[in-house]
Amino acid sequence: AKSSGRGTFHFFEPELDQRMHARRNLERDMRHALVSGEFELHYQPFVDLKSGDISGLEALLRWHHPQRGLVSPAEFIPLAEETGLIVPIGEWVLRTACAEAAKWPADLKIAVNLSPAQFRSKELVPVVFGALAASGIGAQRLELEVTETAIMHDSEAVFAALGQLHKLGVRIALDDFGTGYSSLSFLQKFPFDKIKIDRSFVNELLSAKEDSRLIARAVVKFAVSLGKTTTAEGVETKEQLDILREEACTEMQGYYFSRPKCSAEIAQMVGAEAVS
Ligand code: C2E
Ligand code: CA
Ligand code: CA
Ligand code: CA
Repeated sequence: AKSSGRGTFHFFEPELDQRMHARRNLERDMRHALVSGEFELHYQPFVDLKSGDISGLEALLRWHHPQRGLVSPAEFIPLAEETGLIVPIGEWVLRTACAEAAKWPADLKIAVNLSPAQFRSKELVPVVFGALAASGIGAQRLELEVTETAIMHDSEAVFAALGQLHKLGVRIALDDFGTGYSSLSFLQKFPFDKIKIDRSFVNELLSAKEDSRLIARAVVKFAVSLGKTTTAEGVETKEQLDILREEACTEMQGYYFSRPKCSAEIAQMVGAEAVS
C-alpha cells in the first residue's frame, strides 16, 4: 500500500502492477508472433563420440520480436506454458522441425523439446503423427526430448502417450538428466532411448572443487550404466570431451562442436539437398 500523501492509501503496488502489465503484453505478443511468423528454429548438432559424425540436430526455438529483438526461450517458454500457448507453438515447432529434417541426409535425426502442457493436451499423438506424415520423414528419425518434471505429474497419461509414440518408432530422450529426482524404477518404467546429461554436470567435470568433480563423474557414470545412448550437453572444451570419452559417453553436444545455427547454415553444414 502506498500513501497518497493525504492520509488515504491506494492498495496498489507499482512493481507488481508493472510485472502483470509486462506479462499481459508478452502473452499478447506471443499470440501475435505465431500468426505473423516471428518464431524461427535454430538447430544444434549432436555428435557421435567414436566416429565424430553428426548423429542429428536439436531444434531450439527463437523469437524475433519486432521491438525487443531476439527473445530467449528461457524468457517466454515459462509463460507460454502457463497460458497454454505452448501447445500451438509446440505444434508449429514439430511441423517446422520435421519439414526441415526432410531436407537433410536421411541418417540424421531431429530432436524436438516437449513441454508438460503438450502432454496434457491429449492431442500430442495425433500432432506428432501429423508432423511426420506432412514431412514424410520416418518416425525413427524423430527424437522427443522430455524432462523428468514434465512426466512426473500425471505420469499415467504421459506414460500412455510416450508408449504409443515409442511403438510408432519415435525415439524418446530424457532431457536435463541429473537435475530431477529420478529413481531407478522411474527411469526403467519409461521407454527412454537416450539420456541427456545436464550441462551443469559437464561443466563441473573440471571444477576446482573436488566434491563437485566427483558428483559430476558419478552422474555421468550412472547415466552410462543405464545402457542407453548418452548425450553430454553443453560440452565447451577438449578437456571435458576427453573425460566423457573415457567414461564411454555416446554423444556430445555443445559449443565445442557447434553453437545452434539457422536453417540455412545447418543445411550447408550437413549437405542438405536443395529443396524448392
Ligand atoms: P535445453 O533443451 O536444455 O537446450 C539446451 C540449451 O543449452 C539451449 O539453450 C542451447 O543453446 C544451450 N547450449 C547448447 N550448448 C551449449 C554450451 O556449450 N554452453 C552453453 N552455455 N549453452 C549451451 P536455448 O536455446 O536458450 O534453450 C533454452 C531452453 O529452452 C532449452 O533447454 C529448452 O528447455 C527450452 N526450449 C528451447 N526450444 C524449445 C521448444 O521448441 N519447445 C520447448 N518446449 N522448449 C524449448
Ligand atoms: Ca533439450
Ligand atoms: Ca537439456
Ligand atoms: Ca536445460
